[in-house]
Amino acid sequence: MAVSIALMEGDGVGPEIVAEAVKVLKKCSEKTGTAFEFVDAPAGGQHYKKTGTVLPDSTLQTCREAAGIIKGPVGLPDLPQGLVEKEAVLRLRQALGLYVNIRPARLYSCLKDQSPLKDRVIGTGIDYVIIRENSEGLYSMMGETSEDKATDVNFYTKKGVSRIIEYAFEYAKKTGRKKVTSADKANVLTASRFWRKHFVEIGKRYPEIAQESQYIDAMAQYIIRWPSSYDVIVTDNMFGDILSDEAAETVGSLGMGGSVNLDPNGPKMAEAIHGSAPDIAGKGIANPVGIVMGCKYMLETIGLQKDAALIGNAVEAALEKGARTKDIAKGENDTAISTAQMGSAIADEI
Ligand code: NAD
Repeated sequence: MAVSIALMEGDGVGPEIVAEAVKVLKKCSEKTGTAFEFVDAPAGGQHYKKTGTVLPDSTLQTCREAAGIIKGPVGLPDLPQGLVEKEAVLRLRQALGLYVNIRPARLYSCLKDQSPLKDRVIGTGIDYVIIRENSEGLYSMMGETSEDKATDVNFYTKKGVSRIIEYAFEYAKKTGRKKVTSADKANVLTASRFWRKHFVEIGKRYPEIAQESQYIDAMAQYIIRWPSSYDVIVTDNMFGDILSDEAAETVGSLGMGGSVNLDPNGPKMAEAIHGSAPDIAGKGIANPVGIVMGCKYMLETIGLQKDAALIGNAVEAALEKGARTKDIAKGENDTAISTAQMGSAIADEI
């Protein structure tokens, strides 16, 4: 039976990078025999301009029924700020119960020159996984605004905090990682103290895994100064969003960052960690590696390990052979290739 994949192209560079993810998946299918059935799931700013709706109910239904979703970034500079993002990012995650967001950061040895960090700082390498709470916190869509004040509520529940922390420890156990570091702001925020209390409690059930808590502001410095000291990082919605962009830059470019959003018992949604990049949209220069890696993580969590490994290896091989989009073409001898050429270079390796 075919694996159904909902396709949400999104805005800006979204359609350009999603097309490359589909190209790679189709090639993968030829090799492994896994059949993918792609179903259109329109949403986002362009869709809003055409229809007046950001996230139609029919799209939500398509996503609910699919085994996987490939979501391009959404948001357009000529639309009111937050309109599209709130509906097509936050509502989608909440409606589908995608409370886990996995955002790995790994520096390929062939991209060492593209990292802004010096060799001596990189040390034994950068290879850690940020597990971000994806449904509560400041992104819980609570709050209000008036002429003279505005609030967002940093809302956390015991259920929400416990399940993401447990997920992080289980993830470490399953993948053979040795340490879980929690990032919070417990010296200032009530919600962070609540978070830390549960992290310490739940951690007692995993004595075989090293564990520590750090303040988010200090960690923002440490991931630059001692990047090889991290293994699994678990953190809240807002902190995870910011930290993972920083992490992606340390491994070469924001365009390299992929992620999967998931409910362990429900849908799995591949995304790049970046936005719609309106400054480069339509130029054919966006790096598609982030979304392709998002698909790899999505397939892994669906249980298609062979397909996932094939894609991961193909990305690495293409990079090793010198495939570089503009954002990672920083070496003396690098020639930048287009989004489509990068997709083809990965597909060719498959
Ligand atoms: P952005 O991530 O789109 O871009 C930041 C910078 O990174 C830009 O210079 C851009 O050119 C570069 N960049 C991003 N992706 C790249 C890629 N694949 N290859 C090469 N360079 C890349 O952030 P922004 O400009 O702050 O946001 C643009 C829009 O995207 C906003 O509307 C924002 O709300 C939205 N957004 C959506 C999502 C989502 O859909 N999940 C996530 C973040 C931002």
